[in-house]
Amino acid sequence: MGDYLGMEIKGFVDLSLVDWDGKLASVIFLPRCNFRCPYCHNYTLVLCPEKEKTIPFERVENYLKSKRDWLDGVCITGGEPTLHSDLPELCSRMKSIGLSVKLDTNGTRPQMVEGLIEERIVDYIAVDIKAPLTADKYSRAIGVDAKNVLRRVKETVGVLLDSRIDYEFRTTVVPTLHDKEDIEEISHNIKGCKKYVLQRFEVSVGKKPLDPAFSELKPFADNEIISFFVAARKYVPTTRIR
Ligand code: SF4
Repeated sequence: MGDYLGMEIKGFVDLSLVDWDGKLASVIFLPRCNFRCPYCHNYTLVLCPEKEKTIPFERVENYLKSKRDWLDGVCITGGEPTLHSDLPELCSRMKSIGLSVKLDTNGTRPQMVEGLIEERIVDYIAVDIKAPLTADKYSRAIGVDAKNVLRRVKETVGVLLDSRIDYEFRTTVVPTLHDKEDIEEISHNIKGCKKYVLQRFEVSVGKKPLDPAFSELKPFADNEIISFFVAARKYVPTTRIR
């Protein structure tokens, strides 16, 4: 195994009940991202990760070893974790402690995702589907030109549809970016998947989104979320709301 002194862990939550359904998990945050989603809440990790202290891997590893008897797993999130070439090594180290591994990804590194599945060093993958898989809508949702990433997101969707691993596709539904037709189109894009989750965009207290204008948005009302849910279930009957 390699030396993890250089592993860029920029955030660590020792216990989360909400990052992995039904599991007690710690959360590791890795820096940087190739997207600039206007509603991103972790944008310091995306825009200026150097301002965040790097947490020594050994400290994280020692904590996880001491809790492995009751902790179910570790969520690796960011930023975009698949940008890190040492992600497979990080996953292996988590597995060797005896913990399950969940990966959150924006789906732009299909080969990395495929490799982790083949090596059996990941147990659950959550892939963000930011918008219907068309260049104009995706570009608007991710804040950068989607021309070069769309093919890779589609490839990741294909990798998961063909895999036996547990996974979910998920969309954070954001006023001004999504409507019912968009959600229906996304669910059509991922038809046949095991699980699709709709998450309501809400501005967290004390945490501004990347684009300050988005802090003024009112979240979708319950009846709107339910109409999205009904639209999504047309193609993905296992859709749920988180
Ligand atoms: S994919 Fe978007 S929401 Fe996720 S970390 Fe990157 S910029 Fe933020």
